[in-house]
Amino acid sequence: MTAAAIYLFDIDGTLLRAGGAGTRALNQIFAARYGVSDAMAGIDCGGRTDPWIVREVFTRQLGRAATADEVDAVLDAYVPALERELAASTAFRVLPFVAVTLDGLAARGGVEVGLATGNIEAGARVKLSRAGLAGRFGFGGFGCDSADRAELVARAIERGVARAGACPPERVVVVGDTVHDVTAARACGVRVVAVATGNVDRARLEAAAPDVVLDDLSGLDAWHAAALA
Ligand SMILES: [Mg+2]
Repeated sequence: MTAAAIYLFDIDGTLLRAGGAGTRALNQIFAARYGVSDAMAGIDCGGRTDPWIVREVFTRQLGRAATADEVDAVLDAYVPALERELAASTAFRVLPFVAVTLDGLAARGGVEVGLATGNIEAGARVKLSRAGLAGRFGFGGFGCDSADRAELVARAIERGVARAGACPPERVVVVGDTVHDVTAARACGVRVVAVATGNVDRARLEAAAPDVVLDDLSGLDAWHAAALA
């Protein structure tokens, strides 16, 4: 029997592009609740967690730290707003080779496929549903687990190990599109595949020293076969 492996996928820039739906949803909420227009301007959300992003808006736009209750209230309002924006987003798209890559991993014995994303879980589920990927990921680590990406990756690993049984760190693979995905995976002592399908170019990803940088997910099966099979 093939040894177990665990794959943990990032969402934005790795599986799909939401076409700015999340930014528009948060802009609406901050305008309605705090009278701030264009609240998300200038904030680089790539690889960041939802609670980190909300706190950053408070700091930059309101000049103060958010309370935990304020972060929770914004994120509660965010999910239905995100759902509306995703439904209306003409720029939304699933990235190339996602379905075939997930099919290929599922066809390999013993591979558990989950998420490691800065999205809160409810937001992640809404995005995956819009992408036709609902039900593809049985577990994960999310922005609601921690504002710190390394901590949510650690939760994802724990949940994956609970499903897979024992799985050594060299057989746990984070797949993501930013330097933050790489550093979080390294903080957890696991492998990491970077894909240049988001907003970070290949050179910057290579400088972060992941196990490999791929142009897109079409190379993942061959990497798995060489490194893990
Ligand atoms: Mg991403």
